[in-house]
Amino acid sequence: MPLPRDLPIVDHHCHLSPSGEGVTAARRFRALGGTHLFLATQNYTPKVPRSLDDYRAQFETTEQLARRVREETGVVVFPVVAPYPIDLVHAAAEIGGAAATDLQVRALDLAGTWVREKRAVALGEVGRPHFPISDDLAPLVDRALRHAFSVAHDVDCPLVIHSGELDEEGFRELAGLARAAGVPAERVVKHYARERVSATERAGVVPSYLARRELVREVREDPGPWFLETDFLDDPARPGAVLDLGTVPRRALAIAEQGPEATARLVVPFVESVARVYGLELRPPEASGP
Ligand SMILES: [Zn+2]
Repeated sequence: MPLPRDLPIVDHHCHLSPSGEGVTAARRFRALGGTHLFLATQNYTPKVPRSLDDYRAQFETTEQLARRVREETGVVVFPVVAPYPIDLVHAAAEIGGAAATDLQVRALDLAGTWVREKRAVALGEVGRPHFPISDDLAPLVDRALRHAFSVAHDVDCPLVIHSGELDEEGFRELAGLARAAGVPAERVVKHYARERVSATERAGVVPSYLARRELVREVREDPGPWFLETDFLDDPARPGAVLDLGTVPRRALAIAEQGPEATARLVVPFVESVARVYGLELRPPEASGP
């Protein structure tokens, strides 16, 4: 059974770079049946952003890539923007902790403005470095993260969380930060989830699963919301560091080949979860009207 024509096929987290494959990777995604990409911003130069203008230029690059992908491949792209949490660690070493935190806070405000102007659908990636940081830095990172939650509350949008692996307590802590800011836990997405988390373990926080074959098999019967992602990095220097952009449509096709019952489950990550977390009603590009 081929992929149903009216089913959107969604990669919930990827990066594209002007110095990588860019539109070519999106064309491969489209050729395999992919229809929608959530495109997270990233640093496009080796230098860590030092000013708000650096972040503005970065977000604009993401926006330009999104536009080119839409125009040249027909894939619908949803930009997700925020200052990368790890930037704070590097910027602190260069300009000091206070100035680096202040820059993160202002860049989060800028990202919030983009959401309000409908130039982005969520704040991401926000969160904490996935490696140990010093006792001096930890409170600064937390301050920036709490600010991210308050911006998400103000502009009423989801947050895409970068962090190390989370256990049950880690999910509970995120849900607590959300509650303190008045953000529903269901608007908090833990990206790069590499193990299945049960509904009780995740405290309402939404996992975005790395689309490895085994993991997809484990989670595909689970009630939503949950997503599938590749975290494609589009970095020619690191091929195979994460999954290829063709992976989510390939997994969807493998499931569709098992019959209509298995195929019906695909609406959970690709339609229902996108509607619940983002409030977006997805339709495949062919089916969308003028
Ligand atoms: Zn990412």
